[in-house]
Amino acid sequence: MSARFRQVVRFKCMWCGKVFKTDYLHKCKFDPDKRNCLSCVHQIGSDKERGDPMYGEPDIPYFVCDKVDNGTEFCDIDTIARNNWIGKCPDYEAIHGWKGKETFKARRLAAEGGKP
Ligand code: SF4
Ligand SMILES: [Zn+2]
Repeated sequence: MSARFRQVVRFKCMWCGKVFKTDYLHKCKFDPDKRNCLSCVHQIGSDKERGDPMYGEPDIPYFVCDKVDNGTEFCDIDTIARNNWIGKCPDYEAIHGWKGKETFKARRLAAEGGKP
C-alpha cells in the first residue's frame, strides 16, 4: 500500500449490494425485516394507475398482489416508500430463500417470461 494512502472501511448492504461509508444510515427497501411487498410471496409485479395530466393528476404506482386488493395503502408504492419501506400489511408472507434485490429481479424476470 502506498504511503500516500490510508486504507478505509466501507460497508456493503447484504440485501441490495450498495456500498456505504456507514453501516447504520441505509434503510434498505429489500430488507425482509421491513416486511413490505418487495420480499412478500404475494407480490406478482407492479403497475400504475394513470393520472389525468389535464387535471395535474400524477400516476399512482402500486404493487400487484394476489392476496390484497391492489387499491389499498398496502400496495401503494409511494405510501410504503414514505414509510421508510416499512410494510404494515397483515397478509405479508416472506419469500422463502430471499436474497434481496437478486431474488426480486429474478422473480420479475420469471414473471415476464425470461429465465431467472
Ligand atoms: S400480501 Fe401485503 S405485503 Fe404481500 S404483496 Fe400483498 S399487499 Fe404487499
Ligand atoms: Zn440495501
